[in-house]
Amino acid sequence: MKAAVLYSTFPAVGQVQGKQTYADARPLVVQELDQPRPRAGELGVAITYSSLCHSDLSVVDGSRLRPLPMALGHEAVGRVVSVGEGVADVSVRDRVVLVFVPSCGHCRACRSGKPALCHQAAEVNGSGDLLHGPALLRTPAGERINHHLGVSAFADYAVVARESVVVIDDDVPDTVAAMFGCAVLTGMGAVLNTAGVTPGQSVAVFGLGAVGLSAVMAARLAGAAAVVAIDPNQGKHHLAMAAGATAVGTPGEAARLIGEASGDGWTLPLKQSARPA
Ligand SMILES: [Zn+2]
Ligand SMILES: [Zn+2]
Repeated sequence: MKAAVLYSTFPAVGQVQGKQTYADARPLVVQELDQPRPRAGELGVAITYSSLCHSDLSVVDGSRLRPLPMALGHEAVGRVVSVGEGVADVSVRDRVVLVFVPSCGHCRACRSGKPALCHQAAEVNGSGDLLHGPALLRTPAGERINHHLGVSAFADYAVVARESVVVIDDDVPDTVAAMFGCAVLTGMGAVLNTAGVTPGQSVAVFGLGAVGLSAVMAARLAGAAAVVAIDPNQGKHHLAMAAGATAVGTPGEAARLIGEASGDGWTLPLKQSARPA
């Protein structure tokens, strides 16, 4: 199997790299790894599409510290090619979206209806292991490669926990399905679960990548009266309008647009970008 592996962060923490770009530095090494077989409770998945999330870049640039070397990528879709012992509800050929927080189902967070806060998932995601056992990825020379969020999808194949997938229908295009693995649940979750937007409220979304656009759609679904979408890249504004925004603008226009939208009430600001670009 082939995977994109990060051996050292770029720029290295505390080190000035001048104007060198990712394209110059090529911080990810695409290499052959031994192809692991799924253990009990795991699946082998042929990755068909993987998108780039800011959290991948945060590992690359060192702002999110992870044990290295690590095979990155966590927002992806694929098809099951092998099924480990004990997995009864997923079959070979099933199409699956990969999920970056598996839930064990029995820790306090899982039992209390907050699977996204699964204690066991937090532990193994932090250590580069999988929910059902230690990391499986190895170079041909035997060096351990850590898994990224139980997924490691910048690869043509991944072994993941059963709890790291959701089976989906065949008719969802790969490019759309992959985003359900991170951007959609992050943006929609922020609006529907964290903020708990209710009908009639005003919402402002800053940053119109896949997460921000998902937040715009969720605000509309929640019945928000006004959805102000802000991004310096005006090329994204028409996408926000199509997703349900009632007003779009640049950061310089934000105060005016929010004032117009909120009228006599407050606005719920949702920052959906880790950096102002
Ligand atoms: Zn992500
Ligand atoms: Zn749990």
